[in-house]
Amino acid sequence: SEQRPRTAILSVYDKTGLLDLARVLRDHGIRLLASGGTARMIREAGFDVEDVSAITHAPEMLGGRVKTLHPTVHAGILARDLEADDRDLQEQGIDKVDFVVCNLYPFKETINKINVTIDEAVEEIDIGGVTLIRAAAKNHSRVTILSDPRDYPAFLEELHSLGTVPDASRKRYALKAFEHTADYDAAISEFFRKKYAGNGLQQLTLRYGANPHQKPAQAYTPLGELPFKVLSGSPGYINLLDALNSWPLVKELKASLGLPAAASFKHVSPAGAAVGVPLSDVEKRVYFVTDIEGLDDSKLATAYARARGADRMSSFGDWIALSDEVDVPTAKIISKEVSDGVIAPGYMPEALEILKAKKGGKYTILEIDEFYTPPAVETRTVYGVTMSQSRNDVKITPRTFSNILTANTDPLPESAITDLTVATIALKYTQSNSVCYAKNGMVIGLGAGQQSRIHCTRLAGDKADAWWMRQHPRVLEIQWKKGTKRPEKSNAIDLLVTGQVPEDGPEREAFEGVFEVVPAPFEREERRAWMQQLEGVACSSDAFFPFSDNVYRAARSGVKYLAAPGGSVNDKAVHDAAEACNIVFVEQSTRLFHH
Ligand code: 5GP
Repeated sequence: SEQRPRTAILSVYDKTGLLDLARVLRDHGIRLLASGGTARMIREAGFDVEDVSAITHAPEMLGGRVKTLHPTVHAGILARDLEADDRDLQEQGIDKVDFVVCNLYPFKETINKINVTIDEAVEEIDIGGVTLIRAAAKNHSRVTILSDPRDYPAFLEELHSLGTVPDASRKRYALKAFEHTADYDAAISEFFRKKYAGNGLQQLTLRYGANPHQKPAQAYTPLGELPFKVLSGSPGYINLLDALNSWPLVKELKASLGLPAAASFKHVSPAGAAVGVPLSDVEKRVYFVTDIEGLDDSKLATAYARARGADRMSSFGDWIALSDEVDVPTAKIISKEVSDGVIAPGYMPEALEILKAKKGGKYTILEIDEFYTPPAVETRTVYGVTMSQSRNDVKITPRTFSNILTANTDPLPESAITDLTVATIALKYTQSNSVCYAKNGMVIGLGAGQQSRIHCTRLAGDKADAWWMRQHPRVLEIQWKKGTKRPEKSNAIDLLVTGQVPEDGPEREAFEGVFEVVPAPFEREERRAWMQQLEGVACSSDAFFPFSDNVYRAARSGVKYLAAPGGSVNDKAVHDAAEACNIVFVEQSTRLFHH
């Protein structure tokens, strides 16, 4: 119903489809205003077009840096159909603009060129175009913004058949325009982040991604600084995944149980996690820490001895997280093991020196800001698709385990609550499916990343069994051949306690090679008698048990306390199985899948 002639402003870098567009706009009697190069092309094709300067009465300046930046242009775009706005325009002799057609200088293409200079990149930062697009998109209730040549055909079709652009189309074009400028700005800030953010403060170039051929790779935070500093070494992509999963694990363990905590990660799942519960002499031998001076006086060192000792084979080359400032006894344990790196809120000077000397000075040491709180929403991209979710910030505390579903509802002993808390917080940071067994304030068996729950329960149970078998007097009394390395001992012990030593052949020879006196295999009865002494174990599952086979398997590894969410059609059968095995079943109400 508008009587006034309509106006379009055109300013495009990518001139695809421009002439068809200009022709149809002109056919509809729409006045065309265009910036330098855009006007020239339209004019040369024989269509009626004016330069933007016809309304601004200002020439293009500064070699093109100022073309359309002018109140006449932007007031014409931004004016609403309000009396007050109309009055303002009239006083200044400005006409409303109805269509903006604009796409931006090719910043991304420019910065992708090898050896591009900062000056070259700076020249490709579009100012006026972004302003045109943003202004038109803001006022999309009245103005149509075309920022993508691929939208021209549908636009022209509608203009032709309806004479106007429908509301729904203007909204879609506005959304696309906002995405276009956001993407453009992201490319600009990414470029300058790499150039100016400096020295791992906000951006960290990584050696490579998950694999050596996945280059380039980086970590960054768009606002503020990274929550950690690299004190030594250079973390890889998987190191950071481990660091940023293991740190919250130990932070939460300490917050929930009030004890220093440690975790030993491999491939983004814990191999061990523990709080600082004192060690027995046998445990010290099993965890290879009898020679650590000051161990009994450091709860942090005790926690790491447990985390590292739980599954020594899996922890080979681990990523470590420690809840407290690292002291000398903790650093001494680390110095004796093969490890990739560590994250902690601080390091005592002498401890830092010990760690820095590891791996010929290449050991990776990160210092985390312990007061850092991540944003509530986390985002990731998989195969080009961005997904976001609110972070799993559920708190697992001793109170989480108060809903006992089996008949005996006596309060759980404090040690059981500690162990269930350790197991469940570990699961929160373990690739799913996952099931975790815990005792003495530590993970003793963890089954991660299995597609079937019973396979997690078996894997974790087998690991718990191996942990217990390692404490058998016959294992403690092993006489090693001189010069046998710690990892070689761990591997041989694992073969022995899991009953996988072959009777002959080269593997048998290699096995025998590390001993002064070759230990006899465990007989079935000997194993059974020892396993029967494993009791009071806690076990937690990151989701419900679909079948009671899980309960029966857990019972065979001394499980007395079982925690899992409910929700299976088989819940009743699962609880009945627990009752039959004399297991206390605690319903923990939060599913804890993690990927
Ligand atoms: P043309 O080829 O018409 O001379 O220039 C078109 C390009 O200029 C478009 O990519 C548009 O985004 C950009 N542009 C429009 N107005 C301005 C301005 O005032 N300053 C700058 N730097 N770029 C502009």
